[in-house]
Parts: sequence; C-alpha cells; structure tokens
Amino acid sequence: MQPAQAPDPGTALPGTSTIVAAGGTHFLPQLPFSRADWEAACYAAFGEGRDPATCPDCGRTGFYGPRIEEPERRYRQCRFCGFTQEVDGPPQRYRPTVHRCADWPSCARAPYVWWVAPKVATYRCPFCSERVIVSKALEKRPADDPGHGWQHVPQRKSRFYYAEFWSKWEYSKGRVEL
Ligand SMILES: [Zn+2]
Ligand SMILES: [Zn+2]
Repeated sequence: MQPAQAPDPGTALPGTSTIVAAGGTHFLPQLPFSRADWEAACYAAFGEGRDPATCPDCGRTGFYGPRIEEPERRYRQCRFCGFTQEVDGPPQRYRPTVHRCADWPSCARAPYVWWVAPKVATYRCPFCSERVIVSKALEKRPADDPGHGWQHVPQRKSRFYYAEFWSKWEYSKGRVEL
C-alpha cells in the first residue's frame, strides 16, 4: 500500500507560505499585495516598459498583470489560471465562465474567459447584457485544459511581442497582458 501523498504545494514561490483555496485541493501562493506593490507593478509595466511579469501561481506570461477597474478597484489577475488579488486582500482563485452568446468574443483560438469571484452566482453578460448563471457557464480553467487554445500562447516574450500578439483580435487589441 502506498503511503498517502503530501499535498502538492503547486507553484508557490520559494520562501512563501501557502493557503488552501476554496475546495481544498489547490494551494495559492500567499503573497502580500499592497497599494504600493500595485503601483510598483504598474510603473514597471507602463512607466519603464518592462516585459510582462510571470503569474505567481501558474508561472505563465502574457495573461497576468496589475489591473484597474474605475473608480476604486485595484487588483492583479491572471486570465490563464484565475489567480486574483485585490490590494490588501488575500489571493483568490476565480472561476472561469463563458456565456456562449452571439456577441461573446474569441481570441487566440478560444472563447474569451470571464473570471468570477468564488461566491458569485450570477452576473450581467458584458456582451449581450443577459443574466448569466455561473453554474451553467463554468468552463475548465485554461491552465487545467491541455487542449485549450491559450496553451499555445508563446511564453517569456517581450511586451512588444505580446502587444502585437493580442492586437490580432478585436477584443484583446491594445493589451500587453490579456
Ligand atoms: Zn496564472
Ligand atoms: Zn452573453
């Protein structure tokens, strides 16, 4: 009989502790994220023009970065694995949804993924304005789906490369990280 396996600490960075995400099967890197950290990430990306940072959870580039939703929400998110963290908040694992309506956009060989917070049950579709039931729109995370189109997005490229890459689709035009 095999001894029970220790839980896989996943991709937590060396020297960081981990927490158990909702569901108890995945460990998120437990990193502090202050307003100053958010501003430093924005300055690196848009002031200094640094190449896109690596997601602290899944390690991908081209999907992860600091984000803002006016007027107040400042956060960081990876649109490949759902790692999401508000300023001064704990890391969270968002859930991936697709509302397969006529107006839903695609980019990089897959429908766009709309990430929702763990307890959100419904939302207004940003494309067709219908009410979406999250339980009916859930998808596999691109990070968990070897056949997902986003698995083919080139990695460890420059910001110029990604700006050009994402400009090929209407919805992702103008982005450096999806
Ligand atoms: Zn990620
Ligand atoms: Zn819709």
